[in-house]
Amino acid sequence: MENPLDPGASISARLVEAGRRLERRGWSLGTSGNFSAVVSEDPLRLAITASGVDKASLSEKDIVEVDENARLVRGDGRPSAEAHLHVAVVKARGAGAVLHTHSVWTTVLTDATEAGEISIRGYEMLKGLAGVQTHEHEESVPILENAQDMPKLAGNLEGILAKRPGAHAFLLRRHGLYTWGRDLPEAVRHAEILEFLFEVVGRSRSLGRD
Ligand SMILES: [Zn+2]
Repeated sequence: MENPLDPGASISARLVEAGRRLERRGWSLGTSGNFSAVVSEDPLRLAITASGVDKASLSEKDIVEVDENARLVRGDGRPSAEAHLHVAVVKARGAGAVLHTHSVWTTVLTDATEAGEISIRGYEMLKGLAGVQTHEHEESVPILENAQDMPKLAGNLEGILAKRPGAHAFLLRRHGLYTWGRDLPEAVRHAEILEFLFEVVGRSRSLGRD
């Protein structure tokens, strides 16, 4: 089978493959998570998974298009309320793709961490993040308090991203991870690297090695 993350495939096909890949790892079970990629920059248009879709059976008809205000402009279905966060990340970072997972380890760790961030340092896998050259890199991932008012949460997020220009991701407490990349393959790589690292940190803490 042709690699659907190949740039030759349609954006919808590539998002479906990316989403199914993350679901297979258990990071986006049921209808959780959402995945987007930039279709055009001016005017800003994002292809994004529709709300309420089971990610194990994600298909191209489940991908809709939203504008710079996270409003539906194409496709059948309702865009996820979290489309506001995707748009905020694209505007703040110039990202080409944004991926959001709901994994066990990001849920457990953000519950167990009172601080507003989780710092990860000293692991070889950090070098999978764009621009990171050494395991000695410290990745400080901010934690935002979860909320259901997504436009308001997007406003909080804009402030945090502006203060942390080097961050590759952020977490929502007891909810999950957002990461991004200049294109979809880079965003998928970041999701896999970060989910690996959060599992390592969580397992290490549970072994008493903090
Ligand atoms: Zn979510």
